[in-house]
Amino acid sequence: MLDWFNIALIALIVGIVVAIVYSLRKTMAQIKASGVSGEDARQLAKRIRERQVKCPRCERISYALLGTGNQWKCKVCNQEFEGPDHLPPS
Ligand SMILES: [Zn+2]
Repeated sequence: MLDWFNIALIALIVGIVVAIVYSLRKTMAQIKASGVSGEDARQLAKRIRERQVKCPRCERISYALLGTGNQWKCKVCNQEFEGPDHLPPS
């Protein structure tokens, strides 16, 4: 039997999943808009996520803020900055 706590927990999880899916879809849409499609776009999105970009302030590895175009955020000092091009020359 579900009580309010469980319902709130499920709502929270669903909200997080929706937010992740939404930002991924937005990133995929941006890649597709640039003329790459299907499996290529998937590979490219994977490469973007796995790419290691260093923070300009503390030189630690940062992560891409998906769905924001080309913004990156540092894991350590929370610095947000413009990253390298999302579409590297092949
Ligand atoms: Zn940093």
